[in-house]
Amino acid sequence: MIEELQLRVTLKEEERSDILVIKSAQALNIDKEDITGVKVLRKSIDARKAKIILNYKVAVYIREMLPKTSDYKFDYKDVSKEKAIHIIGFGPAGMYAALRCIELGFKPIVLERGKNVQDRRRDLRAINQDHFVNEDSNYCFGEGGAGTYSDGKLYTRSLKRGDVRRIFENLVFHGATDQILVDAHPHIGTNKLPKVVQNIRETILKYGGEIYFETRVTDFIIKNNKLQAIQLQNGEEMPVNRVILATGHSARDIFYLLHKKEIALEAKSFAMGVRVEHPQHIIDAIQYHCEGKRHELLSAASYSLVQQVNDRGVYSFCMCPGGFIVPAATTNGEVVVNGMSPSKRNNLFANSGIVVEINVDRDLHKYEHFGALKGLEYQKNLEKMAFTAGGRSQVAPAQRLTDFVEGKLSTDLNPSSYQPGLNSAPLHSLLPKLIGSNLRKGFQAFGQKMKGYYTSEANVVGVESRTSSPVCIPRNEKLEHPQIQGLFPCGEGGGYAGGIVSAAMDGERCAEAAIVGL
Ligand SMILES: Cc1cc2nc3c(=O)[nH]c(=O)nc-3n(C[C@H](O)[C@H](O)[C@H](O)COP(=O)(O)OP(=O)(O)OC[C@H]3O[C@@H](n4cnc5c(N)ncnc54)[C@H](O)[C@@H]3O)c2cc1C
Repeated sequence: MIEELQLRVTLKEEERSDILVIKSAQALNIDKEDITGVKVLRKSIDARKAKIILNYKVAVYIREMLPKTSDYKFDYKDVSKEKAIHIIGFGPAGMYAALRCIELGFKPIVLERGKNVQDRRRDLRAINQDHFVNEDSNYCFGEGGAGTYSDGKLYTRSLKRGDVRRIFENLVFHGATDQILVDAHPHIGTNKLPKVVQNIRETILKYGGEIYFETRVTDFIIKNNKLQAIQLQNGEEMPVNRVILATGHSARDIFYLLHKKEIALEAKSFAMGVRVEHPQHIIDAIQYHCEGKRHELLSAASYSLVQQVNDRGVYSFCMCPGGFIVPAATTNGEVVVNGMSPSKRNNLFANSGIVVEINVDRDLHKYEHFGALKGLEYQKNLEKMAFTAGGRSQVAPAQRLTDFVEGKLSTDLNPSSYQPGLNSAPLHSLLPKLIGSNLRKGFQAFGQKMKGYYTSEANVVGVESRTSSPVCIPRNEKLEHPQIQGLFPCGEGGGYAGGIVSAAMDGERCAEAAIVGL
């Protein structure tokens, strides 16, 4: 027999390894020995009150063995001789499009401008240490896409867009911890993601797919509104039938190419701002009501904040407890920051993007002449400003949080996890008013919501500009570009995803759409 239960466990109780069995037996009024196993279905922390409670949803197996297999079967078959679907980009959208093609009996041929996960590391080191950005291999480009050297947070609000559980199970199938199946806020961690990505690559190759790294797509050959071939950076033309375009939100050359070819694009609203970094112990103290070190059974505390300022959302984005700020620019001459964290989230800092909504119809009048690329140009200007203010390298401009809000240049800065280094700069006046002044009000409001958050011990670091795509590549109900037959815009670059899981789900959907009638 299997019984599902909700259990509440205190931190003191959690120290006992058999606490779930004991509590289950009590709740069901049965003998402990009759319980053959307790499977955790969901786990979350309730830290609203001083006494912290762990909430568990469990399945209790009574005189019955726990099943070992997952709910999902991934039925991969040899597709080496099957019809091809070309996929541009090997981020979460491209990877999951390729896996789904294999399940459906089609051969994915993937073209990825960046390097494989191992070789990519060298280029990340070059950004951090030498301030040199390889424009094809960096924190956004390369095997696994922008998701590889990220936090690997797997939250999504796109629950209606696909089967989230299926993506999670597939990540576990490819080596992610099965803890992601139960945590309320699952994440994998930057140290574990490359192995998962490599395993996905190996599955694709094993079943007859093809993957070409360091192969940038530079042109589309279109006749009679049908995609005929794609051109690669070495000049080679590759004939194609169906193409899934999963190049992510940073592939500006793709947006420029489509724009130049007069292929319809739309400007899309997005958000930009800064990354704020606190010592982790300050966030722990606020969230767990503790002084000094947090309880050893608790992971680094996170937060999620939102405030309406002048009818505009100011909110935290991609919060990384126990993490690092990383340089996420894709070209030299620009500075972009983002965040990641290892699986244990044991670094000394807590960082989060704090961003302001930018409405492309209302806010970017000066950029109207760029048409569909107006948001992109605005974003680019901000990143160039950060490059100059940082000192013309990957050093990022920064300010103490309180100085930023009070409009003062910081005489010195707090220690930071950002490896290329920080330069004190007056971000309060350098950022466009639309962003700077709303952020300053937002931070004050956040200080009211979380006592201790508004502190001179935190830095704001500029700029957090790649939260989502400023451009949308339209598609019809068949997920095909309305103007170009055979082109399936996909994932975050198309404007159809906002994170790893939603990009992966969109990849699956595009694969299902691309095979129709082939
Ligand atoms: C540092 C960092 C941390 C992040 N943390 C998280 C997180 O914790 N959780 C989360 O959900 N999201 C996170 N994100 C966002 C997440 O990574 C993206 O939402 C997701 O990767 C989008 O997937 P995608 O496949 O659509 O695009 P991408 O991941 O951007 O992949 C696009 C791929 O296309 C390739 N490409 C581009 N142009 C071409 C071309 N012309 N020819 C061939 N290939 C090309 C690129 O090299 C890239 O590999 C983070 C992003 C960054 C940068």
